[in-house]
Amino acid sequence: MAQQPLRPALLERLPVRIVGLLREIGALGDQRGCHVYVVGGVVRDLLLGHVTLDLDLAVEGDGIAFARAVADRYRAGLAVFERFATARLVFPDGLKMDIATTRRESYAEPALLPTVRPASIEEDLYRRDFTINAIAVQLNPGQFGRLLDVYGGQRDLRARRIRVLHAGSFQDDPTRIFRAIRFEQRFKFRLERETLRLLTDAASMNLIQQLSGPRLQNEILVLFAERDPARAIARLAKLKLLRFLHRRLCAKAAVTRVVRAVPKALAWWSSRSPDAVIDRSIVYLMALSSESSPVVLAVIIRRLACSREQATKLSAGGKQLDRRLKRLTERGALRPSQVYRLLVDLPDEALVLLLSKQMSRQQAARLSLLRRYLKVYEKSRAVTTVLKGRDLQAMGLKPGPQYGVILGKLLDARIDGTITSERDERAFVQKQLGVRGDC
Ligand code: ATP
Repeated sequence: MAQQPLRPALLERLPVRIVGLLREIGALGDQRGCHVYVVGGVVRDLLLGHVTLDLDLAVEGDGIAFARAVADRYRAGLAVFERFATARLVFPDGLKMDIATTRRESYAEPALLPTVRPASIEEDLYRRDFTINAIAVQLNPGQFGRLLDVYGGQRDLRARRIRVLHAGSFQDDPTRIFRAIRFEQRFKFRLERETLRLLTDAASMNLIQQLSGPRLQNEILVLFAERDPARAIARLAKLKLLRFLHRRLCAKAAVTRVVRAVPKALAWWSSRSPDAVIDRSIVYLMALSSESSPVVLAVIIRRLACSREQATKLSAGGKQLDRRLKRLTERGALRPSQVYRLLVDLPDEALVLLLSKQMSRQQAARLSLLRRYLKVYEKSRAVTTVLKGRDLQAMGLKPGPQYGVILGKLLDARIDGTITSERDERAFVQKQLGVRGDC
């Protein structure tokens, strides 16, 4: 291998405590007689002038034993994944670090997880997804900062292009198709011509269909967690990759408008409810499927092996949400309790989608009505009744389904402000009981 330059200054762009830690880990490498490198995204980002702290270390030797030694020395939490010869450390200050044995990978069949065998750092870099992610920097003393760029990663970074290391790369692992789009869109790079050809070939061979649901889901959600998923979605559509979620899924104009409206809707939502925890990636997936029928949504949910919670969120979106939007924005004034009943079974992600849909339609009056109703709904969610089921029982009502009906009416009246005290509530219930003649 050609001699590679020493670039200690590159690592010194990291925070001082991390540089110190990496130097100590390099020294530990010398003590244990193994070469230690930092690899992948951190090196790529440092070369691009960004600092990220997602530290991936590769060890020529027994990576797991090395990870145990590091964890012992720094009292870090340790999780070991023997099958992949990797370990994850969490330091007491929260810093995370992955340590792996340098390895060669072989794929028994396309799209399945690989078998791994220890190998040199050069082979380890060769099994990586793209040249820009296949640069390593050595940590051992005397070699600290030595850059290993065997496959032209720096050249591709300068030329702003994404390039695979070999022709079988997408076939070995079709998740790289989505990773390619992720990095292309994030850095505003382009796919190198041959890489683009290999990617479209791999997509046309339907290899993505062989990916398991969780792996496909992970790639899609990670892609949609990027800063500007609208660009990534447009790219997926252009490369005809949306059909892997559902054969009829495409980014028609209405869908594109909804997707583009999501950032504004999210911003409005978080300005109103700063503590709300919204699953942003799911909102984008919902926006992408915002014109889909429940049947299509069910297929997507199955294909991505969604959890129950994800499935609930996704199924609340789709074309059927339009009915509620229509009721909220086309009717005359709604009482707060009517708004509450229209929205109460929707997860917050569906409310953000509702807002994105309306924002995408350029109808100022309806949008301001919807915003007003969403504020009303937010207030209503905090309203409760003083009386509970046991109070109804004490008032002589026999247990049964009518409890839910009466408590529901009571809540509506509270939300609408027609009753405001416990006394009002008791009088309201008495009246209901009188009407029903139940006690
Ligand atoms: P990000 O900035 O999004 O975290 P990253 O490059 O750090 O990107 P990770 O998914 O954390 O990506 O992976 C770390 C490194 O592992 C990558 O830089 C790459 O070298 C390698 N890698 C990850 N996934 C693959 C894959 N599917 N095929 C080959 N190499 C991969």
